[in-house]
Amino acid sequence: MISPKMFEALTEQINEELYSSYLYLAMSAHCEAKSFKGFGAWLRVQFQEEQLHALKLMDHVLARGGQVTLRAIAAPPAEFGAPTQIFEAVLEHERHITGCVHKLHALAVAEKDVAAQVFMQWYVNEQVEQEANASEIVDKLKMVGDRLGSMLYLDKEYGKRGKKD
Ligand code: MG
Repeated sequence: MISPKMFEALTEQINEELYSSYLYLAMSAHCEAKSFKGFGAWLRVQFQEEQLHALKLMDHVLARGGQVTLRAIAAPPAEFGAPTQIFEAVLEHERHITGCVHKLHALAVAEKDVAAQVFMQWYVNEQVEQEANASEIVDKLKMVGDRLGSMLYLDKEYGKRGKKD
């Protein structure tokens, strides 16, 4: 059985992941409305990935006898800027999530919860990948600057995410 402290922290993380999905869905809609369909498609895939992150946490809690009560998901911002600002915000948000994941892992250690420690390692690795992906896009967008042709090329390239060639 999972400790009440660990249970509370995992429940909070489910909300964090669902907020992430909601945030990326809002960003996706913004990009698509501005005709950056590729970035919009990339963010839609990200929206789905975040839902899987939440489900994986929920399954862990359920498997260990916890009862999951879902909480309200905060509304994401209504306005987003240009693609560079959007992906800088993605990177910043992923860094925040990494902090949450590391705290959860530290709590699992403090609670001597070996199952949760092993489980959280997947998220530790996942965050390395999430930050690297966002960071790469930010770097490329900065290289491109305000050259619209190159920006549209990146939009097209990143739109291939989740699609077969
Ligand atoms: Mg996530």
